[in-house]
Amino acid sequence: MRYSKLFSKTIKSVADVDSLNAKFLTQGGFIHREMAGVYTYLPLGLKVLRKIEQIIREEIDAVDGQEVLMPGLAPKENWAATGRWDTLDVLFRLKGAGDKDYALNPTAEEIVTPLVQNYVFSYKDLPCAVYQIQNKFRNEARAKSGILRGREFSMKDLYSFHRDQQDLDRYYKVVKEAYYRIYKRLGFDPELTYLTYASGGAFSKYSHEFQIVSPVGEDHLYACEKCRVAVNREILDDQKTCPECGNAKLVEKKGIEVGNIFKLGTKFTDAFKFRYADEAGKLQPVIMGCYGIGPSRIMGTLVELMSDEKGVRWPKSVTPYQIHLLTLGNDDASRLEAEKLYEALREAGISALFDDRDERAGAKFADSELIGIPLRLVVSSRTLEKQSVEWKDRSAKDAEIVKIDGLIKKIQNFYS
Ligand code: ATP
Ligand code: MG
Repeated sequence: MRYSKLFSKTIKSVADVDSLNAKFLTQGGFIHREMAGVYTYLPLGLKVLRKIEQIIREEIDAVDGQEVLMPGLAPKENWAATGRWDTLDVLFRLKGAGDKDYALNPTAEEIVTPLVQNYVFSYKDLPCAVYQIQNKFRNEARAKSGILRGREFSMKDLYSFHRDQQDLDRYYKVVKEAYYRIYKRLGFDPELTYLTYASGGAFSKYSHEFQIVSPVGEDHLYACEKCRVAVNREILDDQKTCPECGNAKLVEKKGIEVGNIFKLGTKFTDAFKFRYADEAGKLQPVIMGCYGIGPSRIMGTLVELMSDEKGVRWPKSVTPYQIHLLTLGNDDASRLEAEKLYEALREAGISALFDDRDERAGAKFADSELIGIPLRLVVSSRTLEKQSVEWKDRSAKDAEIVKIDGLIKKIQNFYS
């Protein structure tokens, strides 16, 4: 992508931001705030969001999740069937033509349960797991912290259906392990990723949240640093020891909830009278689990955790482009060489943001640090004297001079 062609530009300063992620993502041209808690993802931001979603998709596909796309809009009847039309405080309710009532889905149990019921009748059809990656709508009392808490936001929601508790327990563990793989691939430090015990509702003692420890987190945790397990204070205030090892020396930490897994039991299947026929033809309750992850909140969390004072530092796995290529000065030789390199990168399948603007060096450098692509390559008359480019790892202190000959191989190694 040529920076000169990108319609969204970096912005010098932004007013009214309450968080680092809102500040850097807005300044860097990743997102644009439409109103409180509602954002447009600009070309650079959408690339990051899609990469996050793709990692999640690959890992959920690998545990036999089947992707669907359910609607964002639902009739009142679905939400009335479970009683949540009246009880869910964050539900957006709206009127349509003919005075008909609709909801904007904040989650999709009310949609997926009757959906799957259309196709699953017997023990032979179970287990099955269905998921989507789709925008959710919640009338949050306070939309805040940039894209950490939005009123419209991206969610991966997976729902599993089982013939008995045992099979749900088995699959729940499988998804828990998939979640660890997802957060690791997304670039989160495993030392900061805490499996957190939270209230489980009527069906199981606990549910589990995945919390990333951060001072900007909203959740208060009691953490066992030995097990990397925590207890969520808000909901399990009476649990004073580590639920895994019994350790009584729990440390208070703040966390950002980036995912959540929950045994629902028959709460929703009962509401829709969803039963299956067992081997003897007898009707049995379908047992259900649900598993959420917030890709947009994850994008904001990565910014909160990995930025420095100059801007974002994207993990390699979700960077919008692999290379930030730029020229210094406006001499023909540098321009030509940069064009050649841009073409060579394209041919090698390496994505690059090419800052081909006729801009001051200082402005180009500042933009590259703000945008936070892991690797910057600079072509100038000075580097060309040595048939080289300047190679700068976004996280390293100093740049190095690297020969153009063998450069592609070195980039491939950097990203392997
Ligand atoms: P929270 O406790 O933070 O309000 P939740 O427990 O209501 O979240 P779930 O209903 O389990 O969240 O949603 C699944 C995931 O979706 C969460 O783990 C989080 O990553 C993400 N998420 C939830 N609400 C928001 C929001 N308002 N903005 C962005 N992401 C969200
Ligand atoms: Mg929660």
